[in-house]
Amino acid sequence: MAKYIFVTGGVTSSLGKGIIAASLAKLLQARGFRVTIQKFDPYINVDPGTLNPYEHGECYVTEDGAETDLDLGHYERFLNIYTSQANNVTTGRIYQTVINKEREGAYLGKTVQVVPHITDEIKRRMLLLGQSGQYDIVITEIGGTVGDIESLPFIEAVRQLQWELPEEDTAVLHLTLIPYLKAAKELKTKPTQHSVKMLSQEGVHPDIIVCRTEKPLTPDIRRKIALFCNVKQEAVIEAADVPTIYEVPLAMMREGLDTIVLKKLNITHYKEPDLTRWKEFLDKLKYPKGKVSIGLIGKYIELQDAYKSILESFIHAGAVNECKVDIVNVHSEFITPENVTEKLSGLDGLLVAPGFGHRGVEGKIIAVKYAREKGLPFFGICLGMQMAVIEFARNVLGLTDAHSTEMNPSTPYPVIDLMEEQKKISAKGGTMRLGAYPCEIREGTLAHKIYGCLHISERHRHRWEFNNQYLDLYEKSGMIASGKNPDTGLVEIIELSSHPFFIGVQYHPELKSTVENPHPLFVHFVKAAKEFSDKKNDVKNPLLQSEMI
Ligand code: GLN
Repeated sequence: MAKYIFVTGGVTSSLGKGIIAASLAKLLQARGFRVTIQKFDPYINVDPGTLNPYEHGECYVTEDGAETDLDLGHYERFLNIYTSQANNVTTGRIYQTVINKEREGAYLGKTVQVVPHITDEIKRRMLLLGQSGQYDIVITEIGGTVGDIESLPFIEAVRQLQWELPEEDTAVLHLTLIPYLKAAKELKTKPTQHSVKMLSQEGVHPDIIVCRTEKPLTPDIRRKIALFCNVKQEAVIEAADVPTIYEVPLAMMREGLDTIVLKKLNITHYKEPDLTRWKEFLDKLKYPKGKVSIGLIGKYIELQDAYKSILESFIHAGAVNECKVDIVNVHSEFITPENVTEKLSGLDGLLVAPGFGHRGVEGKIIAVKYAREKGLPFFGICLGMQMAVIEFARNVLGLTDAHSTEMNPSTPYPVIDLMEEQKKISAKGGTMRLGAYPCEIREGTLAHKIYGCLHISERHRHRWEFNNQYLDLYEKSGMIASGKNPDTGLVEIIELSSHPFFIGVQYHPELKSTVENPHPLFVHFVKAAKEFSDKKNDVKNPLLQSEMI
C-alpha cells in the first residue's frame, strides 16, 4: 500500500512548490523509498501542449509522449526517474473523462455534478500511481494557490481522501510565504495564518508548513506560526532562499522535512539518506574551475521558464566539465547580418533553441551562419536543427529561398517539410510526433563519439522534418545525417564533418538530462565551448603568441 503526500500552496504563486515537492521526494528516495510525484493543474486546457510558452513556460514531454507541466521536468531531474501521462492531470482532462463517460451513458439517470463525479475522478487519478504497486510514496502537487476558485474540487478531493484513507497514509504539506517588511524590519506571519485558515475552511488541515522566507525564521516566529496554524513547532519548516535549486534537498534535510513527514506517515524504519552523488554534483557546481559563455538564441528569452530544461541541462553539463556556464540570451528577432558579429563575437558556443512559427527564424539562420563560418561550437535543437539545414541550403548549396514549409509553404526548396502523417491532421492538441523514438547513429561520426553507442532513444515534439529528397546533395557537400530513425529514415541528427563542433538534433535532449545522468550532448557541447574559449585565450595571450611566432 502506498502512502500519499499532498502539497498545496498559499499566499502567492511561484513559491517553488515543484522544487519543494521534488526535494522532499529526493530525500525520501535517498532513504530507500520508491517515490514518484504527480501534478494536478487546475486549468481547463486538457494539457499544456497548446499553451504558448509565455503563458506557462516550457511544455515538458515525457517518454510516453505526454505534453506536461514543466514541474515534471524538475521531478525527473531530481529523482532520475521517468514520469508519464499519469503524472500530470488538469481540470480539462478530468472534465473530458467525466463528460465522455456521461455521453457513453455511464451515469444514466443521474445528474452529473462537481461533487461527487468530478471529485471522484480526481480521487481515482490521485490514487492511480499508488495502486500500481510500483511506489511506496506518491507525492501530489496541487497547482495554483489555496483560495482560487478553480482549485476547490482538488482540495475537496484531498479532504475526502484524508477521511477515507487510514490516518497514517496521508500527509498534507502547505507551502507558504513569510514576507519580510523592510520598514518594520519584521517577518510577517499573517498571510500564512490566513491561507492556512482558508485551507482549513475547505476542510483540509496541513500537517507541515514550509515557509519561504528571505530571512531566517526566529524561534519566536516558528512558535507563532505553529500556534496560530495549529501544527507542531517541529512541523514549521524554513525554506530560505538558496543560490541554486539543487541545494534545496540538503536545506530541507537540515530542517528535518523528510523525518517529520515520515513520522506523520508512521514509517519508523528507514536508512540514513545516501546523497553521495548529489553532493558530488553540488560541489562541482559550487566551485567551478573555469567559465564559458553560451549564446541561447531564442524568441522567448524574456521568460526564462520557456527554456527551463535547456538551462538546467547546462547546469548539469557545466558541473561535469567543472566550469560555470554563463548563458547569454540573444533575442533571435533582433539579429541582423549587420549586428551579428557584435552580438555573438564574445561567445564560446551557440545554442539555437526550439520553437514554432516564423517569428525570429531569420535571426536564427543568421546566427547559424556565423557559427558555421567562424568555427564556433554550434548546437541546434529541433527548430534549431531545422534552421541549420536551411542555412546550409541557402549559403552552401546555393538554394536561394530554401525554407521550411512551416514558414514558407511555397518555397522552391522545401528542405524541411511537413511529415507525411501530419498532412491529414488539423487538430492541434496532442497531435505532434511526441515522445520517445529510437535513433540509429552512423559509426565514426561526432554523434557516435558523443553517445559512445549506436542505438539511442530520445524524446520528440515536432511536425516538420528534414526532406530526404535533398539528403544526397547535403551529404556530398559535407552536412551528413549522422542519426536516423531506423523504421522511417527520418533524419534525427545532422552534423558538419569539417567543423570542430556543429550538431543539430530533431529531438529534445534537454528533456532527458538529470543531475545523476547529465545528457552527453550538453556535456560535449560545453566541453567544445571550453576548448574554443581556451584557444581564444591562448591567442590573446601575447606571451604565447610570441612563442608561436
Ligand atoms: N516547429 C518545428 C516543427 O514542428 C520545430 C518544433 C520544435 O522546435 N519543438 O517541426
